[in-house]
Amino acid sequence: MNSALSFPFPDLPAIGSTIAVAEGVAWLRMPLPFALDHINLWLLNDDTGDGRNFTAVDTGFGSSETMDAWDKILSGKILNRSIVTHGHPDHLGLAGWLEEKYNAQMWMTQGDYTVAHLINAQVGGYAVPAMLEFFARHGLDSARLAALDKRGNAYKKGVPKIPKSYRRMFDGQIIRVGKNDWRVMMGYGHAAEHASLYCESLGVLIAGDMLLPRISTNVGVNPTNPDDDPLQWFLDAITAYRALPNDTLVLPSHGKPFRGIGARVTQLHEHHSERCSRLIAACATPKHAAELIPILFDRDIADAHQVMFAMGEAIAHLNHLMHTHRLRRLKDSSVDGLIRFVTI
Ligand SMILES: [Zn+2]
Repeated sequence: MNSALSFPFPDLPAIGSTIAVAEGVAWLRMPLPFALDHINLWLLNDDTGDGRNFTAVDTGFGSSETMDAWDKILSGKILNRSIVTHGHPDHLGLAGWLEEKYNAQMWMTQGDYTVAHLINAQVGGYAVPAMLEFFARHGLDSARLAALDKRGNAYKKGVPKIPKSYRRMFDGQIIRVGKNDWRVMMGYGHAAEHASLYCESLGVLIAGDMLLPRISTNVGVNPTNPDDDPLQWFLDAITAYRALPNDTLVLPSHGKPFRGIGARVTQLHEHHSERCSRLIAACATPKHAAELIPILFDRDIADAHQVMFAMGEAIAHLNHLMHTHRLRRLKDSSVDGLIRFVTI
């Protein structure tokens, strides 16, 4: 499958070890307690002298297994800093621990730094009750709402500590790491302000979650911005990758490093357009987001974690179709007060 992409590194790094993927760039994998069972992190040579200085890109989920793996990998090394692509728990999770134990300063975008604190502290529309209310209006049944409620503030489990200060990253900013310059490419739709890093001299893009080889990046609508069109933002962000050379080595957060950036961007545009067509067909009679989950996803959406992503994703596609004038939203017009969408 996916012959348009090539995967130059067939072997996976064992937990606690690394594989070199470019000069001064090492690949490491950390475990995750989800259906998606791993995350890739990157260790960049950040040498200023004796060859022991490194910068980490992303930090892993807050678990003792990840800490043990870090201790193994960082033995004899100095960690200058951690660059966190975005605030999701598998990326930000151990930044606080790495700061405390290894004196590594965190770099991050302001959007994701702020949102991380708001979710952790469960403020306003960032809190679980706001999500439940939002999903209820989009038709989620009481059993699945109860499962989500029971899950509580899962974010805090993965992110036990957020550093109290950080270096702020901006779109277009150049970050010098060792001998190389990395340019920040900001992307939207998956997180508030997701930072990918491109190094022209190495021909490497650290894509984070913005470009994955096998799965499509989760794009979701949040209760704080219920009418937004994050799917359009995501499609715009990946379209910008077309400007990079096609032999760019893409380092994704999940799956294997790959080449074929242009083809992957095209595949993802086609994927979302096909999903949109399914929804348009299904909405010949009015439907709400929850009943469209089986239309949107070919796999079974079982646990609360997946339901949360699936609901956000369904609403994102529906909002996108509304903003591009292919569906109409029926708000409060039906007797049960649920939000439904219908083909125009
Ligand atoms: Zn993410």
